[in-house]
Amino acid sequence: MDKYAGIIIDQAHPSIDRVFHYSIPEDMKDILTIGHRVSVPFGRYNRHIDGYVVRIDDTVDIPLSKIKSIKEILDNRPALLPKHISLIQWMVDRYHCMTIEAIKCFVPIGLRINMRKQKERYVHLASRANVDEQIERIERRSKYMADILRFLKRKDGTNIDIIQEATSAPASSFKNLERRGWIKIDSIEKYRKPEGSNNASDRPIPKLTGEQQRVVGTIIEDMKKNVYSPFILHGVTGSGKTEVYIRIVEESIKRGQEAIVLVPEISLTPQTVRRFIRRFGNLVAIMHSRLSDGERYDQWRRIKNGDASIVVGARSAIFAPFQNIGVIIIDESHDDSYKSDISPRYHTIEIAKRRCEMDNSALILGTATPPIDEYYRALQGEYTLLELTRRVDGSTPPNVEIVDMRDELIRGNRSMFSKALYEGVHETLGQNKQAILFLNRRGYANFISCRECGWVAECNRCAVSLTFHASDRTLKCHYCGLQYPYPRVCPKCHSQYIKQFGVGTQRLEKELARFFPNARIARMDMDTTSRKGSHERILTMFGDGEYDILLGTQMISKGLDFPNVTLVGVITADSSLNLPEYTSPERTFQLITQVGGRAGRGVEPGRVIVQTYQPEHYAIEYAAKNDYRAFFDHEINIRRQFHYPPFTAIVKLSMSGEDEKRLVTGAKDLETWLNHKIDKDPVLKRGLVHIGAYPAPIARINKRYRWQIIMRIIDKKDYLNAYHALIDMLLKCYNTHNENISIDFRPTSLL
Ligand code: ADP
Ligand code: ZN
Ligand code: ZN
Repeated sequence: MDKYAGIIIDQAHPSIDRVFHYSIPEDMKDILTIGHRVSVPFGRYNRHIDGYVVRIDDTVDIPLSKIKSIKEILDNRPALLPKHISLIQWMVDRYHCMTIEAIKCFVPIGLRINMRKQKERYVHLASRANVDEQIERIERRSKYMADILRFLKRKDGTNIDIIQEATSAPASSFKNLERRGWIKIDSIEKYRKPEGSNNASDRPIPKLTGEQQRVVGTIIEDMKKNVYSPFILHGVTGSGKTEVYIRIVEESIKRGQEAIVLVPEISLTPQTVRRFIRRFGNLVAIMHSRLSDGERYDQWRRIKNGDASIVVGARSAIFAPFQNIGVIIIDESHDDSYKSDISPRYHTIEIAKRRCEMDNSALILGTATPPIDEYYRALQGEYTLLELTRRVDGSTPPNVEIVDMRDELIRGNRSMFSKALYEGVHETLGQNKQAILFLNRRGYANFISCRECGWVAECNRCAVSLTFHASDRTLKCHYCGLQYPYPRVCPKCHSQYIKQFGVGTQRLEKELARFFPNARIARMDMDTTSRKGSHERILTMFGDGEYDILLGTQMISKGLDFPNVTLVGVITADSSLNLPEYTSPERTFQLITQVGGRAGRGVEPGRVIVQTYQPEHYAIEYAAKNDYRAFFDHEINIRRQFHYPPFTAIVKLSMSGEDEKRLVTGAKDLETWLNHKIDKDPVLKRGLVHIGAYPAPIARINKRYRWQIIMRIIDKKDYLNAYHALIDMLLKCYNTHNENISIDFRPTSLL
């Protein structure tokens, strides 16, 4: 019987976002399977284009005369497994992305552009017995060929590059010998080695503490049951979570299964990677955004070929091409970087849940500050809650001091440093210890403004103020990247009194140098880490004691482990608290807890100083007390009262356009249409809490005006189904995938 391949074309365009059927040529019938990447003729001119086989059918509903046939199978082995394809289908439904967009998550660019695989070639003698005779026969014709044979007689199976270097023989000599059948050349795939990959070492494996042992025991017991078993591992910083992960990964390998370990992009430092490589050596593949396309492709192939059964990586590593996963670990699982901000706008935790359900594996969300919504689900029984309450080294969590900056002003201190912080840094330097200072704003000043008329320098393309950068005396837009010269006079009233307001990391660096002229200061933010490897370099040097003070943006708040750091300062906690987002308190709590965790990891007790204008805010108060549970209880009540997640699901529909009038009309029409639909649907009518169209808080970016429609629905299964139906209708009617409309389920930001 004839079979037909259903193919997704490798071109991201809404008009071709569907399955196309092709016939399978006779010689491919036994080879072609679901998941293969193929080349097919497409369109009116039958241009060859790549595609992916997602199904194989016995019948098709187009005239057979019209069916074209597959031109070529592009890889030996299918790029996608059937179970990956069902996950892809799920992503398309859940995130309303194009199928090809979901496919691309699973397939590295290196494969798609047919990137050259690096090969290593090894040379072998065809027969040892004849080698002396062969040398004699060839010696007079070619000394090179004889030298190669002599070399192989000593060291058979050597890398061709090494023989070439030793004998200076040209490539033709090898070819000649190969043609005569005297040597054999084997190609073995070689992988580009990313930074930080090394060999395993036999450093002693620490004995687990009692708490760690209990946690590891519970997880392993559940793994043995071969059912989906989700855990939240709530462990204070320094409680030895990573060591727990290592033991679980070990168990998974022992059981012949694979493991995915995810860490936020920013804390995927050589430190973290090294810990896994030390324990598992070459079984570890590494994936993060700083890899080149070639390196990424090689890591993917190592997994695909079964050479690596553990991946340590950032968000995208959740799509590692494993077949039988034993455990997925998401460290610092509260981190924003787990949410994709481009299509498909997936949340890594959701993908991880799916993969674990499919493979009956364990899922571990580790963090010192569990996400409010997931912790709530844990209390509802969706996860097993595990706790590590003590630091491994027995040190006490640092004492967090809150400094009220309003008092400092009253006392006449107008500097960025409170008296306590100034003295703290002074003391730390005096004891030859290190300090980390945190300020979540890069640049020099937040904005510049005219003191006479109030004019504020803004980007012409985006509705945001420009940030002053002192290094090149320019104003930069942090949204579109455009640079402007620093104005000498106010463009509105020509006054010369232009002043800088607010502080950024550049300014902090300068002030620090002024207050502590002898301190060696390193700054880490997006401006100092744009070059490959600079991020690692700064951290390594700081770890080696080459700097006294490390200052930076949120880049430095995560996952670092420096025993010599005894002081951590938060210059202003208010910058995250004052964002108009319902998640602001949660983020502030996380931030203080995380940066606080950087202090006192050695023998010395740590000290954390948090400067704020709102010391009475509950997020700051509970963070200072290190009391997650009290914070959770407070926060969950607010979420319930104001209908925020986890009690509702928020969906953000963003629209943008250069023509403001058309955009506003479009958004309002859509809102009306939606409300009308909802009114007619009894389920939605009861369930929907709120729907509204507003200009986005950042009303213009890159010349495009922005509006959004925020929809909130009671978070219950049946409502979500109805709701999806609504979105479906909406997208169909509004010419979906129109690049001007994007939909985000579970948005992390409403800005
Ligand atoms: P977390 O990830 O919870 O912040 P880590 O796993 O980084 O904590 O552990 C903190 C430090 O304690 C690390 O230096 C780690 O090597 C060490 N450590 C972890 N578990 C043990 C143990 N059982 N015995 C001794 N040292 C340990
Ligand atoms: Zn002015
Ligand atoms: Zn701009």
